[in-house]
Amino acid sequence: MASPIAHSFAGFWSFLVLASQLKARLISQWRQYLPQLALLILLANLPDLDFLIGLGTEANANALHRGFTHSLAAAVFVALAVSCVWRIAASFWRSAILCFSAYSSHLLIDLCTGTKLGWNAAASGIPLFWPSNKTYSSPFILVFGVRHENLHQLFSIENMWSLIYELLTFGAITAIVLAVRARIG
Ligand SMILES: [Zn+2]
Repeated sequence: MASPIAHSFAGFWSFLVLASQLKARLISQWRQYLPQLALLILLANLPDLDFLIGLGTEANANALHRGFTHSLAAAVFVALAVSCVWRIAASFWRSAILCFSAYSSHLLIDLCTGTKLGWNAAASGIPLFWPSNKTYSSPFILVFGVRHENLHQLFSIENMWSLIYELLTFGAITAIVLAVRARIG
């Protein structure tokens, strides 16, 4: 799995789409949109909740990890359920599509996450079309997977490099998007 850093940046990108739709001036109005930003970042990280549930219930974080929460069915269900409770955009469907994109950004990143960068079979795969148990992964790996078999690995130097890599790559993409947005806007 990629770390919450990569997923949170992706949640922020879906927030930028919402901000454009609402014609929000982020520099002067950012406080007003913090709840929507928090929701989209939460949704972008939500599939990994199975990791925490596994940790809490079975003392083994990997027991349930990369199960049904990493599927398109879960993305659709969560997007519709959240939009029923809170419409963050102008209409129900716009809100549902934004929630869906935040949630499924997680799936997209995990599809491209593996132990080695580049064209290889290093991805561990996710059950994208659950309830089918077949797992899918991208043949092109863009993100180093965070090692999480045990606490020792979780806090290892390799994981620290993965976090720095995510911070730099996803941060750079965000900086480019913000610069282009400022020029257009
Ligand atoms: Zn994940």
